[in-house]
Amino acid sequence: MCDRFCAATGVEDVLAIGDVSRWFDVRVQRQVRVEHWTNANEHGAIVAADILGLPAPAVQVPYVWSDQYGHRIQIAGRPATGSLAALQGTAVGGDLVALYAGDGGGLVGGVVVDDTRTFMKVRRGSAAGAPARSLGLPLIGTESRSQWH
Ligand SMILES: Cc1cc2nc3c(=O)[nH]c(=O)nc-3n(C[C@H](O)[C@H](O)[C@H](O)COP(=O)(O)OP(=O)(O)OC[C@H]3O[C@@H](n4cnc5c(N)ncnc54)[C@H](O)[C@@H]3O)c2cc1C
Repeated sequence: MCDRFCAATGVEDVLAIGDVSRWFDVRVQRQVRVEHWTNANEHGAIVAADILGLPAPAVQVPYVWSDQYGHRIQIAGRPATGSLAALQGTAVGGDLVALYAGDGGGLVGGVVVDDTRTFMKVRRGSAAGAPARSLGLPLIGTESRSQWH
């Protein structure tokens, strides 16, 4: 268990970064464990800044990519904390875009296959909690979630 600076709680002079660290993410105000390469790198920057007495870098929305069978899968944010809000394309077709939103309709994350330009919009939208409709994709569950229009 670590604080926002990746300092292990309850012991002196122990820092833990990457997969091994359950760290206090100021974005979500709770301790989380994120097993991504990008998270390990960002932890390194947080710890380096702390050791050097510099301001901590801004915490980024989680980002992970994986290249599988010729396709690049990119995930931003924490899709599992919301529900599917918009869907376009298919994973098999290599053109999937899936957006996930919280109860208020703000994006909490998204999954994109082989479309880096769209992914950048999804990543920015997830970081800002932008309305799911702002990406202009077909919305899901519009009858029960009319506030998304
Ligand atoms: C099969 C697999 C696929 C993955 N695919 C992706 C992916 O596509 N995208 C993505 O973002 N993430 C992926 N991940 C997760 C990613 O690999 C980890 O999040 C990332 O490597 C974490 O970095 P780390 O430095 O915290 O730990 P690690 O990369 O595990 O590094 C820890 C290092 O510490 C060494 N070590 C352990 N014990 C000791 C010891 N006692 N003394 C000295 N050295 C020790 C280990 O040998 C290792 O080199 C994948 C993980 C796995 C297992």
